[in-house]
Amino acid sequence: MERFTGSFTQQEPIPAEGIEAALRVLHSGRLHRYNTAPGEVAEAALLEEDFAAQTGARYCLAVASGGYALACALRAAGVQPGERVLTNAFTLAPVPGAIASVGAVPVFVGVTEGLVIDLDDLAAKASGARLLMLSHMRGHICDMAALMRLCDARGITVIEDCAHTMGATWAGRLTGRWGAMGCFSTQTYKHANSGEGGLLISDEPELMARAILLSGSYMLYDRHRAAPPPEAFAPHRLTTPNVSGRMDNLRAAILRPQLRDLAAQCTRWNERYRVLEQGLTQTPGLTLIERPDQEGFVASSFQFLLLDWQAEAIQAVLARSAARGVELKWFGAPEPVAFTSRYDSWTYAPSAPMPRTDRVLAGLIDMRLPLTFSLEDCAQIARILRAEVSAVFQGDLSAPITTARAD
Ligand SMILES: *Cc1c(COP(=O)(O)O)cnc(C)c1O
Repeated sequence: MERFTGSFTQQEPIPAEGIEAALRVLHSGRLHRYNTAPGEVAEAALLEEDFAAQTGARYCLAVASGGYALACALRAAGVQPGERVLTNAFTLAPVPGAIASVGAVPVFVGVTEGLVIDLDDLAAKASGARLLMLSHMRGHICDMAALMRLCDARGITVIEDCAHTMGATWAGRLTGRWGAMGCFSTQTYKHANSGEGGLLISDEPELMARAILLSGSYMLYDRHRAAPPPEAFAPHRLTTPNVSGRMDNLRAAILRPQLRDLAAQCTRWNERYRVLEQGLTQTPGLTLIERPDQEGFVASSFQFLLLDWQAEAIQAVLARSAARGVELKWFGAPEPVAFTSRYDSWTYAPSAPMPRTDRVLAGLIDMRLPLTFSLEDCAQIARILRAEVSAVFQGDLSAPITTARAD
């Protein structure tokens, strides 16, 4: 019986160009973004300029983390304590966490079997809300044209969480470019790796001026190169609190060559995704996630559904796959494991049960897909999953089962 021996948490090394750029910053000693020699432009400022050009955004701000970008966007948009902020029931903890961190209250909107926000549920819950923090969770992108129509008609400002969609598009338009602000993460498990880090983009001068002031720019915002003009800062420079969360030049230096490679990396992720998808088609009991034609996704992870399965059967699939080296995460477990928390795990935010969402989450299996996996690795993983899902689904448990836990 074949066993997979790769690591689901091993990313690729930083490209040589990034290491050299990082060494130059280290040798200079000027790691802080505003610590520049005469005539020098900080790596952080160059990164912002690069990412703005790459996304077509007018403005960009580099910050300390994706979660910081989210909270900073909310603050820039003028969120008030106690305000209701719409967001996805299916997302990662930093999203409701960012809302809670500014004293606002997450209002969870359900998820469809396509793993995107349920637009009917959004319409039903939208009344009175001013802000939607939309999470393109696990890289699944909803019908953005329909979502923007719905939100524009109600005067709802959309902030996009693009932690899983750097380089991804809907109908040819990049995520992060539909809403008023787009937030990205450059944390190790996302699409570019600086350990920790975040990027925020926008076309709106007032929002970006406030975001830059919030991030801790003191009165040095004129050192930014992807920033609105000084007039945009004038009304806010003395009234906007400093909530320090800047990116440093070291991380920026590591990121710039990675961003240049992004398109090629996206292709490599999707090749891996398609091999897995192909290997799992028509597996009895297993539902693949439909990927609409308009969705130009970037797959750094893989999801499938074991819809309406008994919890014990799902646990058996997890245990049997783990015993063969395939590490799965399950969003239906009674207690969150690693990143699998769900709307009802975040007990600081009120929520009513959502049966249709619960049905999806109860059957939702997730797997990381690092670029260190070869296409043959992906084919092997698919063979193992296919065999184990089929065995459990057909009640053929004669193959030895270990007691290894999937977490
Ligand atoms: C990782 C992640 C974030 C936040 O990113 P950090 O850089 O870790 O703060 C936000 N949203 C989602 C969906 C994420 O996976």
